[in-house]
Amino acid sequence: MLNNNFLLQLIRNDVSGSRKKKEPGRIGTIGFSKIYINHIYPIAVAVSLAFSFLGIGFILIAGHLSKIDTVENIQTATEQIKFAIEEYVGKEFETLMTAAILVKKNGVPAEDNTDKLTDRLIMASFANYNAFVRVGISDNAGKAIWIDKGGIKHREMSDEPFIISALSGKQVITETKKNAVNGMDVNFFAVPIIESGKNNVYGVFFAANPEDELRRITEHSMYVGKGICHIVDANGNFIVKSNSPLVLAQGNNIFNLKIPLDEVTEHSIRSDFQAGRRNYLEITFSGEKRMIAYLPLNINNWFVFYAAPENLVSTGANNITKGAIIIICSAVLIFIFLISLIHRINNTSRKALETVAFTDPLTGKHNYQKFLLDAKEVLSKSRGVHYAVCYSDIKGFKYINDFFGRDVGDRLLQYWSDFQYEITQSGEVCGHVYGDIFVSLRKYHSKQEIETRFESTARRLMVYPETFSQGYKAELFGGAYLISESEGNLELSDMLDRAITAQKEVKNAGGTKRLGIYTEEMRKQKLWETEVESRMESALENGEFKIYLQPKFDIQHDNSIIGAEALVRWESPEKGLIPPCRFIHLFEQNGFIIKLDRFIFETICKWYRVDVLDNDVPRYILSVNVSRLGLMQPDFIRTYMTIKDLNAIPDGCIELEFTESLVFGNHKLFQSIVSDCRQNGFLCSMDDFGSGYSSLNLLKSIHMDVLKLDGLFFKPCEDTERGQKLVKNIIAMANSLDMKTVAEGIETVDQVTQLREIGCNAVQGYVFSKPMPIGDFCQFFRQWNRNARPRER
Ligand code: C2E
Ligand code: CA
Ligand code: CA
Repeated sequence: MLNNNFLLQLIRNDVSGSRKKKEPGRIGTIGFSKIYINHIYPIAVAVSLAFSFLGIGFILIAGHLSKIDTVENIQTATEQIKFAIEEYVGKEFETLMTAAILVKKNGVPAEDNTDKLTDRLIMASFANYNAFVRVGISDNAGKAIWIDKGGIKHREMSDEPFIISALSGKQVITETKKNAVNGMDVNFFAVPIIESGKNNVYGVFFAANPEDELRRITEHSMYVGKGICHIVDANGNFIVKSNSPLVLAQGNNIFNLKIPLDEVTEHSIRSDFQAGRRNYLEITFSGEKRMIAYLPLNINNWFVFYAAPENLVSTGANNITKGAIIIICSAVLIFIFLISLIHRINNTSRKALETVAFTDPLTGKHNYQKFLLDAKEVLSKSRGVHYAVCYSDIKGFKYINDFFGRDVGDRLLQYWSDFQYEITQSGEVCGHVYGDIFVSLRKYHSKQEIETRFESTARRLMVYPETFSQGYKAELFGGAYLISESEGNLELSDMLDRAITAQKEVKNAGGTKRLGIYTEEMRKQKLWETEVESRMESALENGEFKIYLQPKFDIQHDNSIIGAEALVRWESPEKGLIPPCRFIHLFEQNGFIIKLDRFIFETICKWYRVDVLDNDVPRYILSVNVSRLGLMQPDFIRTYMTIKDLNAIPDGCIELEFTESLVFGNHKLFQSIVSDCRQNGFLCSMDDFGSGYSSLNLLKSIHMDVLKLDGLFFKPCEDTERGQKLVKNIIAMANSLDMKTVAEGIETVDQVTQLREIGCNAVQGYVFSKPMPIGDFCQFFRQWNRNARPRER
């Protein structure tokens, strides 16, 4: 049989462990990965959000900077154009002024006047060395002569505005005159010819330049091809209209083009033009943002008018913004990718770990750790469902392993595990703890239902083919803790603990019942046990354990006392006298019985030395009980021998009582221990014979001195005659094997008479005497044996 105490401990250890940990049953790495996984997503989301916010902030700032940049760009471009135009015009005026100084002041040369040849040559050379397409002179009456590709011409130009203006002393450049010189659109430049040292204007030197000269300058800006640049006058009339293909609309005035300027914008431009103000505007045209800048020229009342799509002007900044967006998006995407990668790897390794951590290697099904986790989850969600925590093991499973072989044992467990899963309904959980131990969480409606269900499953185990075919029925024992009947909220492992208690109770009872259901009495017993365990050590130190002696009477020889059995009592200051049935079983479980038995043995030896041997009282045999656990100690014989020798107890005075159940499964060991004990001067008795696995065969191979017949034999039963026959034969057999017989628990005179008749040697029972304090025994013994040796009362 498996050591259930060890398993109980296993589960209890887990209980204490699980109380410390928040999540019982989890192995460290899984705990870590869970924490890690629980936190990684919020972190990832936070980082992504932070990235996004930073990115948006960056883009907004970049956008703002880009706007400033754009405005600066377009203004710079416009200013450059203004500067270039003014430079160009100024240079042309300078050239004309130089020519004007060279020209003689004799008025306009007549066609036939050869004296004026020099002037003509000057004019011709100007026409040839400059871009001028016509160069001319007018006298102060407007009589003019010019030279161009078509030769020399005389004309009356007194009503020509630029001549009039130049004669008034101004330097003049005209708006573009269509087809004015040999079919060419030109601008006339005119400067006054002033007599040196005087203010007298006596003529005008003038020249015509193709309009393209001006246009070239307007187009030679930093945004050539990207925008359009016109020169307009204060009324919006074009002086130079851009030839850009972007200017689709026809018209001579900027306000007549089909650009949909809203009223406010048009008004603002008009008033700026009239006031000679520069400005910068944004308009939306065909769904596209455009930037407009205009700037007055220091020439006439002209303006440079510049317009371009915003994205062209702010390309650099736009690109930065786009770049930033791409980088930020990529960073976020890479980050998300990495997180999901880590999560995937983590998930895979977690699953692998979980499989290892939660799978039982033998059955391939869930183990105890997994059961705890799953059951906790189910319970946390269960509403209105009655659940029972069940614990079960197979009685004598070690025997199956030993007798049928480990392979059969393993297969039986696999079969049983499969079957457990088969009968598991939805919302139920089960797991394999260890060896033959299974735990489960089952739904139920009534106590009876759960009992019936258990019985029917237990029958399935009995018929496991490999053992059943050999005539062996594997027996299942279980314990259940019904949760809905419980008080308060217990930890799952505490519930299991209670199911184990119930199982042990039903298993130890040895009846036909296979499922124990945890009860209030069991709870009380448990409390009692806890209290006893907490007090036992100090009780031993304080001398609370007292020895009582119960005499044994030789019924074949005048009922004289031939010995006595030492029986322990606990005299607790708080609880009063506690009988051994309330603590011996517990001490056998927790191991304290070893200490207690040695204490009893030592006390008995000391007492025997002083009160019997040293007092020359006739010797009698004192017997002590030896527990199964005590007997199994490797130093058992050595310790007992030492104590016996220390007190110089002669051989044959002390009897060791071994319970019959001790022998089961330890036949060989028991045989050798008994043999050692007898060789060392101890008498050995087989206690409680008939109470358990009585085996007469046993007595053949193990030589005992005494056979103590259990009190059960003498309890009134249905077939008393048959019982008597049995006892008679046992006694006969014992006698034939040279063993003395002692009948225990004898309460009536009739029983004594019968036992005497069938040859029983001695009797220990209330019929003669109850156990008495050791201090009272000497007097009792002396009186009994000295007095009339009273017959049984
Ligand atoms: P046991 O060794 O079989 O001891 C005999 C038990 O039968 C004693 O119970 C005794 O009081 C009781 N008894 C004797 N005559 C009668 C009778 O006529 N009628 C009834 N009803 N009972 C009778 P006790 O002292 O309560 O001990 C119970 C058991 O506790 C013992 O059974 C023994 O197994 C265990 N025990 C007692 N003292 C020790 C000890 O020091 N060491 C160990 N290991 N076990 C002990
Ligand atoms: Ca005994
Ligand atoms: Ca007994």
